[in-house]
Amino acid sequence: MATHTTKTCPVTGDPLGDWPVTAAEDVRAAVERARAAQPAWNDLGLERRLERLDRLSTALRDRLDDFAERISRDTGKPPVEALATELLSVPLFLDHYRRTAPDVLARKPVPNPIPLPGKRAWAGWFPMGVIGIISPWNFPFQLSIIPAISALIGGNTVVLKPSEVTPLTTEVLQELVDAAALPDHVFQIIPGDGSTGAALVEANIDKIFFTGSLATGRKVMRAAAERPIPVELELGGKDAFIVCEDAPLRRAARGAVWGGLLNAGQMCISVERILVVDAVYDRFVSMLEDEVSQVRVGPPDESPDMGAMTFPPQLDTVDRHVKDAVERGARLLAGGRRLRDRGLFYAPTLVADVTPEMAIWREETFGPVLPVIRVRDEAEAIARANDHEFGLTASVWTRDQERGLRIAESLHCGQVMINDVVLGVGNPALPFGGVKGSGIGRYHGPEGLTSFMHRRAIMADRGLLSADPTWYPYAGKYEALRAIIEAFIDRSPLPLFKAGTDAIRSRLGG
Ligand code: NAD
Repeated sequence: MATHTTKTCPVTGDPLGDWPVTAAEDVRAAVERARAAQPAWNDLGLERRLERLDRLSTALRDRLDDFAERISRDTGKPPVEALATELLSVPLFLDHYRRTAPDVLARKPVPNPIPLPGKRAWAGWFPMGVIGIISPWNFPFQLSIIPAISALIGGNTVVLKPSEVTPLTTEVLQELVDAAALPDHVFQIIPGDGSTGAALVEANIDKIFFTGSLATGRKVMRAAAERPIPVELELGGKDAFIVCEDAPLRRAARGAVWGGLLNAGQMCISVERILVVDAVYDRFVSMLEDEVSQVRVGPPDESPDMGAMTFPPQLDTVDRHVKDAVERGARLLAGGRRLRDRGLFYAPTLVADVTPEMAIWREETFGPVLPVIRVRDEAEAIARANDHEFGLTASVWTRDQERGLRIAESLHCGQVMINDVVLGVGNPALPFGGVKGSGIGRYHGPEGLTSFMHRRAIMADRGLLSADPTWYPYAGKYEALRAIIEAFIDRSPLPLFKAGTDAIRSRLGG
């Protein structure tokens, strides 16, 4: 088993060093420390936990430029994207949850089906305990810190295993956590590779929150079944981008190019399937050509629109998909090749006349490539969009909001935008997650908090009677219960156990 991982800079190709892999016994020890720290963290109460977590935000302020530069060097993304897609997430989500968590996590009264006086019921929440988080390399900061914050707010402690592909960002995360001075072992970060992740799933955690590929997600779920613990899987995507005849075409073209090339296309929500109705297909493809040609690619010091890719093997996948598409008859209208002698730069690529059997249509490409397919009409667009292993995000482009909503509601995926792209994930109030091969579960929004909590139901009686009407003895109660069942079926007023309720009322004085 490897004891270290190495890294080269995606921008320059220079070696950046090596980093330790946390061994299984150290993973288990971290989980036990997290378990010991959890009750005190929970006992602080929501208000004080939110105050403590706010220090993550304030600690970020002085470090924004430094962190943006290091994340950029680690991933290849331009510093402006490090700010927008990574660092902004901390104050954005903390602000949102500061305002919404007290209500979302509050114990709330629940009506009783048979309104007997003296009885009350509530539903509340309690933290699961120790949450294991495993994150990928494409948004190594954001996809680590948002689930961690969400779990911590509810009173859980966290052990995070970030991706070995982005070790500089792991250091950034550790520095931020240290600067926030949270109580010891409440939020621990364990660097390492897949073996560390596997050890975390097998350790004594209470839930695993995994973001990564479908292949690894399957392994995580299998391992989690052994204990068993709840599993949340945020996996791959193949965003369908549907262009209707009445679409605002220029906006759609610019949206497709940004949504497909942002983060060099290495996004689970990246535009990866552009479906255009026949009536506007040729016009739209030529607009895409125009927009793609204006995208500037390069290292951070050239203030580019698009940076380098992050993970060397990902370039091979991109290359394979583009070649396969061209061999099968697609038209390569831009890009399709690496750029520069150094670093992981790939040209913004536009491939038209794609067909569904091509790898570029069926598999996740995770690179700066825009595949376009011609469809007869909206019905075919919806059918093709849904005919896929993945179901994470999609968008619909039309000037008719009703049509947009109708199409949105017929798509099998977790999030749909109308005349917009990507930004749904940046709205902390909106639940995020996929269906089918894109995963199981939701986070962000209220679900982002409650998915790390167990529900707890409480029922109470004021204790004024020595027994309830439903308890022993049963003699004489058959008819009354029959009448209750019939009343439920007929939706008519419920007959009450008269003797019991009269007794309760007289004790309550009413
Ligand atoms: P990956 O599955 O290779 O790795 C993800 C994480 O799992 C890494 O930290 C890795 O070390 C760890 N890991 C590897 N083997 C493991 C094992 N056996 N047990 C436990 N952990 C293990 O994914 P990646 O290449 O880092 O990320 C890219 C993938 O992530 C893409 O498919 C992308 O679509 C997906 N993704 C999904 C979302 C989402 O929110 N749905 C967001 C970003 C990325």
